[in-house]
Amino acid sequence: MYQSMDFKGYDLSNESEEIVPIGSLNHLSTKYESLDYEVIENELYREEEQKKGYRYVVQKDFSRWMTFFWIGVTTAFIGIIIFISIEIGTTFKFNMIKKYFDGCTEADCVYKPYLVALLLNLIPSLVGSCLIVYIEPMAKGSGIPAVKCFLNGIKVPRLIRLKTLVVKVIGVTCVALGGMWGGKEGPMIHAGSIVAAGVSQGKSITFNKDLGALNFFREDHEKRDFVSGGAAAGIAAAFGAPVGGLLFSLEEGASFWNQALTWRTFFGSMVSMFTLHSVLSAYHGHPGDLTYKGLLNFGEFDDLSYHILDIPVFVLMGIVGGLTGALFCHLNLKLFIFRKRYVNKDWKKILEVLIVCATTVTISFLLILFTSDCKKLGLDPTDHPIQFGCNDGEFNAMASLWFQLLEGTVRSLFHDTPDVFNTTTVVYFCICAYFITLWTYGVHFSGGVLIPGLCTGAAWGRLVGRANIGIYSLIGAASQLGGITRMTISLTIILVEATGSITFGLPLMICLMTAKWVGDFFSESIYDTQIELSGMPLLAWDPPPLSSNIYANNLMTHPVITFKTKETVGNIVKILKTYSHNGFPVIEYVQNYELDEGKTKCYLRGLILRSQLIVLLENKVFDGPLTNYWDSVTMETFREDYPRYSSIDDIELLQNDLKLTIDLSRFMNPSPYIVQHTMSLPRVFKLFRAMGLRHIVVVNDSNEVAGIVTRKDLARYKVIRHMGKICVTELQFSSK
Ligand code: ATP
Repeated sequence: MYQSMDFKGYDLSNESEEIVPIGSLNHLSTKYESLDYEVIENELYREEEQKKGYRYVVQKDFSRWMTFFWIGVTTAFIGIIIFISIEIGTTFKFNMIKKYFDGCTEADCVYKPYLVALLLNLIPSLVGSCLIVYIEPMAKGSGIPAVKCFLNGIKVPRLIRLKTLVVKVIGVTCVALGGMWGGKEGPMIHAGSIVAAGVSQGKSITFNKDLGALNFFREDHEKRDFVSGGAAAGIAAAFGAPVGGLLFSLEEGASFWNQALTWRTFFGSMVSMFTLHSVLSAYHGHPGDLTYKGLLNFGEFDDLSYHILDIPVFVLMGIVGGLTGALFCHLNLKLFIFRKRYVNKDWKKILEVLIVCATTVTISFLLILFTSDCKKLGLDPTDHPIQFGCNDGEFNAMASLWFQLLEGTVRSLFHDTPDVFNTTTVVYFCICAYFITLWTYGVHFSGGVLIPGLCTGAAWGRLVGRANIGIYSLIGAASQLGGITRMTISLTIILVEATGSITFGLPLMICLMTAKWVGDFFSESIYDTQIELSGMPLLAWDPPPLSSNIYANNLMTHPVITFKTKETVGNIVKILKTYSHNGFPVIEYVQNYELDEGKTKCYLRGLILRSQLIVLLENKVFDGPLTNYWDSVTMETFREDYPRYSSIDDIELLQNDLKLTIDLSRFMNPSPYIVQHTMSLPRVFKLFRAMGLRHIVVVNDSNEVAGIVTRKDLARYKVIRHMGKICVTELQFSSK
């Protein structure tokens, strides 16, 4: 008798999930599936390996390097397209605004440049937000949290599609043209990841084109490695920081890393950076010069020397960054809840973007109108100095902070001498920058928080040290961004590479670590908050502390829905339709007369995935008197449909087919990872994370299948830190 069918099982489709309050950080969404990072070493795999031999290994390895090369080149070209479009568009915009400002030196005609600025900012913002709302919502924001989840092993729908890339590229250009407080650096990481996922597959599902090459990379674990490389190449292009990119992939992303991947990722990042440098140098009239430094150029710092006595000041600045960063994350969470409740229609989302954009323009004009900070021309830090409210031969310093790209503003704050801006100018700018960044992060547009964070921090950093402005504004920028994102290693190296000063690595590290520790005391990072809000089952680096009294049999789901090694097609279809699980242990019932007086025992023989069963059903790989599928089914059969497999409801089978059987033993993973039911949570967690698993089968004392553990069972245990206190809590499932 086939017992598994009688089991109650864990049926997600029928599960009555609890209603999760809006903005809850304590739920796990059942909507997200996992990626298969494990290599399924079944008979077909072994046959392919034997048949193709060592040449195949070399060919694959060579193709890997070439693919990383092309990922670097393509990512750089995407950066170049974004850069040039923004440069052309903003030059036009700022010249127009300047023209109208030049014709008006008093307050009574300021409405003219204001209306021009409003119009020129609102149009691109409208286009950008419509693209996100109506065409591809996945291209919203920087994409860093979603890329982080992908690298952690979560299948994020539509994350790495061509459509997402196109919307992202146009969207991020619109954000910059619309003068909104979002950076293009975060989106570059997402863009690099999409490029990597696409280039490495040798086919485009959107265009229905298959080059017939690189089929061997059509597996999740191969794709994951390329995506890590793509994310790193994105950082390398954005900041001119290849090592920072590599470390970002390591710190924020990949749960699984190896030495060869480090090399290849570094290679891809270098290629990306140098392609971008050479093309942009040529574009700016210096071919072969390689003078152009990444999309974000921090400029040359004259003097980054510091004294040991400066270190306590850096620590204090780190504390301020941590506190303001934690407040930022907290307030952003409140805004998220507000948005979920009230900004829940498409038109409202677009309206919010337009309101944010108009408010940003209005604030900038009000500040220009009500502060009088006039400086002599020649000190001007901008290409478009505006005279408004100043005498001839002078420019308005407040206007110069607002009427340039955010990257330019960061550069001005880092390098301009103390006499360029009055203290009040910087104070007002800093307060407005903080709140505009806060409000802007989370609206429906494609921009990141990296540059706005740096800009805010650079402003208050400038106020701390009037003597050596470069150093203090840089430390302020790092502390602020560190407090918001809690990135430490990668951000230190990104900033070291972008500033070109290794001696300044220590102060940067000190302030970033302080900012992280202080920030973590009060809240999660902005990225982790986003991830928790979406309920994605992200596995942390380490298991929850003090959890070794939780055992595998507390974690696991049982009874388990299983298949027999020889299973009828009817049963397979029925189970796949009833349950939404993606992995099923394959078992065999054995009667043991010698040891157990003829009792039937169910022994584990392997594990089979839903996607494999779908391919088998689709290709009708059934045992029958006339079927001889042994030669026709190969690894290629399974790669053909990757990554979009049909749904079980789309497979058409004849009534007669349902009576036939499939021998699963040839296709299943014959040696899945198993654990004893007495294994503690930390050990199961470490095994799961280190090996990049999707399912772990739990066996009892007599080695029978007792339960199954998946990512959601492990991610359910969450450490909560509140005001320094740590406790482990269990999250609830939701279908949001
Ligand atoms: P994923 O979606 O993460 O790729 P999955 O669909 O196989 O994997 P989950 O959705 O993570 O599984 O699992 C949801 C719950 O169902 C978990 O508690 C898990 O233990 C349980 N579960 C998974 N597979 C089975 C199975 N074959 N039999 C019974 N319960 C299962």
